[in-house]
Amino acid sequence: MEPCPICQEPIDYSFNRGLEVSSVSCLRCGNYHITREALANLKTFSVEPRQRANASGWLYDNPSSKITTHNLDQLMSTASTSFHERANKILLAMERRTEYAGEFVPYNKSWISWGWCLNEAELKEILGFLASSQRIISQPVMGRGPAYKIAADGWQKIEDIKKINADSLQAFVAMWFDATMQDIYDTAISEAILAAGYKPHRVDQREHNNKIDDEIIAQIRRSRFVVADFTGHRGGVYFEAGYGKGLGLEVFLDMQKR
Ligand SMILES: [Zn+2]
Repeated sequence: MEPCPICQEPIDYSFNRGLEVSSVSCLRCGNYHITREALANLKTFSVEPRQRANASGWLYDNPSSKITTHNLDQLMSTASTSFHERANKILLAMERRTEYAGEFVPYNKSWISWGWCLNEAELKEILGFLASSQRIISQPVMGRGPAYKIAADGWQKIEDIKKINADSLQAFVAMWFDATMQDIYDTAISEAILAAGYKPHRVDQREHNNKIDDEIIAQIRRSRFVVADFTGHRGGVYFEAGYGKGLGLEVFLDMQKR
């Protein structure tokens, strides 16, 4: 069986849907779909391991995404997260799998994607940091490797992360910049945001097909939440929504029926 085209780990399974789209189930990237053309393009790319790790982490955070030639470049240039952002992602992912405080979560290799890590060594380094800062506690499980639980300082940190930008009044709007969308923005999206007491922020009309630029990242980082409208299926909109979600912001999804 061929390795996962994104992270290159051995995959659970993949199958072709009508030959045009393959569905892949990868222990690290999760489930995603990729078109035949995107798969062929990907094989011609030379991709740095860090780019693969970022793409894999993004796919894990956004399950059942479809990779096409329109969003492939964007996926493979997903911005890296900092060491502390990776540690926070792992903590939040542990929380999602914890039903009661004190529960131990068994370790497995898919945690690499929880933290957008390059490899297991980096994951272990971050787990070591979380343990030494007393946010998590590890416990060996007989014959099964370690398990971890969130410690008191970890619960505190989780609350702090969730209060991210609590003072911000800005709402980031991710949408297609097409003339047909202006009316929807004016009469629906921006009005609803203003009515809720926030200030909509829409990056100007520049199309950003290949990369989410620093200005967009900076604006998402200082927003309270993200509103994403997927009309037109623009790659940039998916990535802005995914980026906001990865930061722990609330993301409201919307699509115009036409
Ligand atoms: Zn993978």
